[in-house]
Amino acid sequence: MIDCLNPACHQANPESATVCKHCQTALRLCDRYRPTHLLGQGGFGRTFLAVDEGQANHPACVIKQVWPSQFPDPDKIIELFHQEAQLLKELGHHSQIPQLLASFEQDNKLYLIQ
Ligand SMILES: [Zn+2]
Repeated sequence: MIDCLNPACHQANPESATVCKHCQTALRLCDRYRPTHLLGQGGFGRTFLAVDEGQANHPACVIKQVWPSQFPDPDKIIELFHQEAQLLKELGHHSQIPQLLASFEQDNKLYLIQ
């Protein structure tokens, strides 16, 4: 199954779907990261278990979705987000830290792939 990334929708879709049948949101981030299960939701975003279809063996990954509009100062959050992503990139491989695979903005939301 695929969990819709639209916070207002959150409907399950069959694995063959490319867009949500309820809200037409694209179901893969960057055409490769497919959310499978919602792991958790807070006031500022959600975390999904996902698979990376861009790699042959479809390894598991985690999608962190942040909603800047929920913060009093969205521009500041976007700036901090990019700073943290850069820091994680510089840290690279470390047994105690989840490896950052990608970070980007899409549809007014921030994403980290770990
Ligand atoms: Zn949807």
